[in-house]
Amino acid sequence: MSYKLFIPGPIAVSEKTLRAMSQPMIGHRSTDFVALYNSIQPELQAIAYTKDPVYLSTSSAWGVMEGSIRNVVKKKVLNCMNGAFSDKWYDVALRCGKQATALKFEWGQPVDPEAVRKELATGAYDALTLIHNETSCGCMSDLAAIMKVVREFPDVIAIVDTVSSLSALPIKKDELGIDVLVSGSQKAFALPPGLSFLSVSKKALDRAATMNDRGYYFDYVEFQKNHEAGMTPSTPVISLFYALRSKLDDIKAEGLENRYARHARLNQTVRDFVFGKGFKLFPKEGYGSVTLNCFANTQGIDLAALNKILKSKHKLVIDGGYGILKGKTFRISNMGDETDETIASMLKSLDSALAETPKATA
Ligand SMILES: *Cc1c(COP(=O)(O)O)cnc(C)c1O
Repeated sequence: MSYKLFIPGPIAVSEKTLRAMSQPMIGHRSTDFVALYNSIQPELQAIAYTKDPVYLSTSSAWGVMEGSIRNVVKKKVLNCMNGAFSDKWYDVALRCGKQATALKFEWGQPVDPEAVRKELATGAYDALTLIHNETSCGCMSDLAAIMKVVREFPDVIAIVDTVSSLSALPIKKDELGIDVLVSGSQKAFALPPGLSFLSVSKKALDRAATMNDRGYYFDYVEFQKNHEAGMTPSTPVISLFYALRSKLDDIKAEGLENRYARHARLNQTVRDFVFGKGFKLFPKEGYGSVTLNCFANTQGIDLAALNKILKSKHKLVIDGGYGILKGKTFRISNMGDETDETIASMLKSLDSALAETPKATA
C-alpha cells in the first residue's frame, strides 16, 4: 500500500532523504559524530536567525514542549490557546504540576496581542507558551505583534512552538526576542518523525539552572553541556541526523528566500483552487497558515468519502479535520518538498475526486 501524504504531518519524505538515513551507524561520542553535529549547528541557527545553540532532541516535539515547561516555569505560565496543540500545552503544564492560566481563543482565531498584554500586566507570570502556526485549524498568529508585547515583560520567558512553520517562512528568533524556540522534524522539514529542535537563550538557560525538578532527558543544562562538546546528552537518533544533514544541503541548494517563496506560492495555488470549488478558509481572514490550508466544509460534502476516493483511486491522502473539527474542515499540506508539479497533480486528483464525492448525510 503506497500513497502520498498531503496531511499536515507527517509529511511525505523524499527518496534522497530516505537514502541518507540508510548510512552505517557511527558512535555518538566519535569525532565523526561531533563533525556531523557541528556541521548541522550553524545551518539550523541560520534557519532560526539565532546566535543561540539549537539542541537536537531525540523525541517528538512534545518532548521539548513539555521539557520547556519543566525548565523555565517557576511562578506561573500563560498558555495562549487557539487550537488542539495549544490547548494541550495548558493540560501538559498542569500535568507537570505548574500554575497555569488558559488564555482561550476560539479555534481558528489568532492569539490577540492585547489580551496577552492584559494578562501579563497582572505580573503573575514568568513564562508564556505560544503556537505560531496552529496546525490543527490552519491558523497562523501574528508572531511579531505578540512578541512585541511579550518583550515589555522582561521576566516572562516566551516558549514558542514553530513545529509546522520553521523553515517555511522567516522566523527571526533573536530579533523577535523569542527565548525558547521549539520545532520538529516531520512537518516543514519533511523528515521522518523522531527528532526535535530546541533553541534556548542565555536568559532561559540561566532560569533553568535555578529550577528544581527539571528531570534529565530534557534538561537544558544537560543539552548545553553536551552541545559545547558537539554532542547530545544520550544516544541520539543518528539516522535522522543523516536525514537532517541531507535536508540542510537541499535547503542550501534552494536558498531560504526561494524556499519561503515556494511555500507562499503553493499555498496560494491550493487556496485559489479550493475557493473555486466554493469552499472558504476556516481560520480568520488574514491569519491563514502558509504551510497548510484548513478549509471549512461549506459545501457539506462527505469528507470520509472524499478521502476514500483520493486514497483508492489517486493514491493520496488529505486530512478530514482534526479532533472537534472532524467532518467540518479539511486540511491540505503544502509544506516540505512540494513543487508546482506535485501540487498541480494533487489538485487534478482532488478535482476528479470532488466530482464523485456525495454530500454528507446529517
Ligand atoms: C505536530 C505538532 C505538534 C506535535 O508534534 P509531535 O512531533 O507529534 O510531538 C506540536 N505543535 C504543532 C504546531 C504541531 O503541528
